[in-house]
Amino acid sequence: MMKKQIMKEKILVVDDEEGIRLLYKEELEEEGLDVHIAASGEEALKKLEKDKYSLIVLDIKMPGIDGIEVLRRIKEKWKSLPVILCTAYHHYKQDFGTWASDAYVVKSSDLKELKDTIKGILGSR
Ligand SMILES: [Mg+2]
Repeated sequence: MMKKQIMKEKILVVDDEEGIRLLYKEELEEEGLDVHIAASGEEALKKLEKDKYSLIVLDIKMPGIDGIEVLRRIKEKWKSLPVILCTAYHHYKQDFGTWASDAYVVKSSDLKELKDTIKGILGSR
């Protein structure tokens, strides 16, 4: 049931690590999502100008524009676009810049929490 609901939803995964981009793309496509990827904040913002996405999975630590700044710009322009911040570090939860995100997921090799969070957000609209 859940899988059907989020079928063909287009999401954007933003992470500077290629291994993570590929892993997330593969695993989230298995969940029935249409997964697009961006390797930097700059690339993500360009893609957002051109295309419409249902949700963004956003890494915090990236060279160039970091995830906190990308989040700020997204919420300025596309207020209702859900953003899930993803990072290996717990301490960002205390950073006020992350409060604007819709969810915060600590990176793990097990993507269950991320998948459940995506389903929760997409399913509740
Ligand atoms: Mg990173």
